[in-house]
Amino acid sequence: MYYNNDSYIFHNGKFLNPAETNINLYGQTLHYGNGVFEGIRAYNTNEGVKIFKPLEHFKRLIKGAQVMNMEFKYTPEELCEITYKLLEKNNLKDAYIRPLITTGADMSLRTSAEVNLTIQCWEWGKYMGDKLLRVMTSSFQRPNPKSCFVETKVTGHYVNSILSTNEAKQKGFDEALLLDMNENVAECSGANVFMEKGNKLITPPRGHIMAGITRNTIIELCKEEGFEVEEKHFTLSDLKQADSAFFTGTAAEVVGLKSLDEYHFPLAWEQSFGYKLMHMYKDLVVGKRKLQSV
Ligand code: PMP
Repeated sequence: MYYNNDSYIFHNGKFLNPAETNINLYGQTLHYGNGVFEGIRAYNTNEGVKIFKPLEHFKRLIKGAQVMNMEFKYTPEELCEITYKLLEKNNLKDAYIRPLITTGADMSLRTSAEVNLTIQCWEWGKYMGDKLLRVMTSSFQRPNPKSCFVETKVTGHYVNSILSTNEAKQKGFDEALLLDMNENVAECSGANVFMEKGNKLITPPRGHIMAGITRNTIIELCKEEGFEVEEKHFTLSDLKQADSAFFTGTAAEVVGLKSLDEYHFPLAWEQSFGYKLMHMYKDLVVGKRKLQSV
């Protein structure tokens, strides 16, 4: 699914077939989760292949490398240029792009001086599908922001996402919703959450969540459309009185929730802000609509 004999990845300065690369089994990324990644999408637009908000994504990647003390030399602009070349070499138009920074062989708990960059890409449909999701409240919480840099995509942080997703799937749900350490609603395992209540949208503020680029785009779209949107904490019981709710993320795009635990969101999805925003987001990424800020 991810590659074949004709595929290329970018690996430490070269375009190679994935089979031509090897992974160091003594590396810190494998042993301790000390790596950083991004999840980006490119879309086939009327003006050709366009990566959506590439500089925002590459800046977040670089920020992740910085906080983990990695000596990472590429600029966001260089990464953008390499990624366009990579898409072209793979003849991909609609693609998911996965840059990954790994650290070298070093069993100490100090960041290794060796830093590697790999960029992979493949065709990938909407990560959580198109159907409304049946979500469960996870027994796992999002990490304490004093235990790690929650706004960065450090590979090790994703153990929390895997645990909560496994739990949800094992119990027959589609996805997990996680609370933060103060029992406020935080986010999904790999996406942000919005709720609609009485003609207004509310999403948790930054602090305990990933500052999602899609979340930000949705807030920008709301402002342009005059939809009222507020960033503020809310509890699980607030969410279980909402009219509607949806998740946002680069991989998931915008996807509606059918239910949360035993609670069914009462507003028909087609009549919700989420539904309108899902279509506006799609128009935006394929270039049928422009944002003043992009
Ligand atoms: N929360 C988590 C935990 C994530 O992993 C992601 C995906 N990066 C998001 C939210 C959504 O972020 P974005 O919109 O930048 O993809």
